[in-house]
Amino acid sequence: MARAAVPGRLTWRVAELASTDDITKSARGLVFDVPGWPGHLPGQHVDVRLTAEDGYSVQRSYSISSAPDGERFELSVQRVEDGEVSPYLCDVLSPGDQIELRGPVGGWFVWRAADQAPVTLVAGGSGIAPLMAMIRTRAAEGSRVPFRLIYSVRTPDDVYYADELRRRAREDSGLDVHIVYTRQAPEGAPEPKRLGLATLNTHAWPADFTPNVFVCGPTGFVETVSDIFVALGHDPRRVRTERFG
Ligand SMILES: Cc1cc2nc3c(=O)[nH]c(=O)nc-3n(C[C@H](O)[C@H](O)[C@H](O)COP(=O)(O)OP(=O)(O)OC[C@H]3O[C@@H](n4cnc5c(N)ncnc54)[C@H](O)[C@@H]3O)c2cc1C
Repeated sequence: MARAAVPGRLTWRVAELASTDDITKSARGLVFDVPGWPGHLPGQHVDVRLTAEDGYSVQRSYSISSAPDGERFELSVQRVEDGEVSPYLCDVLSPGDQIELRGPVGGWFVWRAADQAPVTLVAGGSGIAPLMAMIRTRAAEGSRVPFRLIYSVRTPDDVYYADELRRRAREDSGLDVHIVYTRQAPEGAPEPKRLGLATLNTHAWPADFTPNVFVCGPTGFVETVSDIFVALGHDPRRVRTERFG
């Protein structure tokens, strides 16, 4: 009975890689088809399991970066050079290959299109993945909830989905995109700097608007940013965080 209460979520499924795409020089988009996939909410992730011929097995989590689309979804994987799993996913796995995964996982770090509160999204590096699912779902559902994305990257080459974000922001006045460069900025942009209070105070929805805030990225980044939101008067219960470890 207890098992029937969590249909499919904890079941390992076979996922077949349908296509891949270079998101940046060091990140790859992987589109999977997963027969029996129950669907996901934007913000949720999957657990991926790789098993070697000798039975050795490793697991990692990856956020879904696409809007719900039947039994198909995209993961956006940053290659960690000395990593065990991400180089395999980025460089070895080819269309037609199969891996195991389970999910969708997570019920807190999700955006629901029915929620009319304005949304601030803050991403550090590959932390854009679940926020991209929210941006894409908002568009797919024709939602008019105003979104503001503040995205911290090292250099212009590290911006995930740069063309798509530019296009969406140009075509949709309800989506504001502000990029902060921490190491090297493009010509004409402000000097590189770390994301801090001044930027969040200027570009995020003020606390008075009771926005939903989603922060995702490396642990230190997420902690710094969420502390600033609380210092700016946001209700901590409305500041949702996802740490990539
Ligand atoms: C809920 C959740 C969602 C996630 N979603 C994504 C996602 O959408 N895209 C994505 O690319 N990753 C995501 N991650 C991170 C992912 O699970 C792995 O940790 C990452 O791919 C590294 O795994 P690896 O096996 O390649 O490296 P490991 O073998 O685990 O680590 C190798 C070395 O790299 C360091 N390291 C580990 N992770 C990182 C990192 N992220 N950045 C820099 N150095 C690191 C380790 O400290 C270690 O020194 C997510 C993590 C969580 C918990």
